[in-house]
Amino acid sequence: MTTTKTADVEGTLSQIYALAGAGADIVRCTCNEQAAAEGLAQIVPRSPVPIVADIHFHVEMALAALEAGVHGLRLNPGNLRKPEEIKLVASEAKDRGVPIRIGVNAGSLHPDIYERFGGATPEALVESARLELAYFQEVGFEDVKISVKASSVATMIGAYRLASETFDYPLHLGVTEAGPLPGGLLKCTAGIATLLAEGIGDTLRYSLTADPVEEAKAGRQLLEVLGLRERTGLDLISCPSCGRAEVDVITVANEAQKALSALDIPIQVAVMGCVVNGPGEARHADLGIAAGKHRGHLFIRGQIIRVVPEDEMVEALVEEAQKIAKEGIEARLAARDESAEAAAAADRAELLDVKGADANNATQVIERIRRRSE
Ligand code: SF4
Repeated sequence: MTTTKTADVEGTLSQIYALAGAGADIVRCTCNEQAAAEGLAQIVPRSPVPIVADIHFHVEMALAALEAGVHGLRLNPGNLRKPEEIKLVASEAKDRGVPIRIGVNAGSLHPDIYERFGGATPEALVESARLELAYFQEVGFEDVKISVKASSVATMIGAYRLASETFDYPLHLGVTEAGPLPGGLLKCTAGIATLLAEGIGDTLRYSLTADPVEEAKAGRQLLEVLGLRERTGLDLISCPSCGRAEVDVITVANEAQKALSALDIPIQVAVMGCVVNGPGEARHADLGIAAGKHRGHLFIRGQIIRVVPEDEMVEALVEEAQKIAKEGIEARLAARDESAEAAAAADRAELLDVKGADANNATQVIERIRRRSE
């Protein structure tokens, strides 16, 4: 959702473009006053993605937004309460073929429903959506999407589970007022990912107190990590580091993330702290580097292709990622340095010699445990 004044056409469009570039497929703008509706009339034809007008309190703003040509409306049943007005908007939207989201929010639940259910419970949120839906159905309007957001992750999950059993309409997921980073990200992810993993949800929004581009990025990334969207950029995996690490994994991983993100290549890259376990544990990665003996073992799908000095690890990753993007994985495997595997094996053997294959001395510990029980 944009954070600019919608009347500021150029500012809002600039944010819409930034959001679309970060992965947003739909953008919502507030339509809270006449100037906002007039702004929408200029924004909609120039927007790269469909625009939804967010409507609270003012039915006339919903009608004005429809006149402005928006692709969708979001109505809050908690503050648009007159049945005749709701039906008027639904009829007008039906005539124009514009969908409406019934956007229930725990924080602005209709007071009667709040009282009847003893609070903003999952049942209360779903009841609010059901009542609004009944008005829509009275005028034969079916082009509906429903959301039942709450700032409590547990309430939100319960409400969406109930909504998915109650309605046969698409659901828009969100944890509302989730807060700033990083806690907000965690709350949104906990709620949205849980539901998506259960097969619930059709669209989503991260509601963060942050630049909305962060919301779009997070949403896109969540869909990618759940395998619901094809990866468009970098997926950097890195080990958590441990006593075996031969390098400062945090620094190298952060530097690699920064350098590789800028390339905009859909690739999975691994940064691993040691050559003993790294290449094997990250053998599924397209490309990776593991540290050992002041050198980096560069590998593709687990096969060592080059050994580079430690201070050139990030540079080597960037260079190889670019070559993979241009030539493909197989060609880069074929072009590997034939002596790399032997050099890497020598490093691994030396490290195992120093630290031992059993870094935790488990064999001796087990012996001691057995002796105790004899
Ligand atoms: S890859 Fe090596 S350094 Fe990283 S966690 Fe695994 S054993 Fe530890």
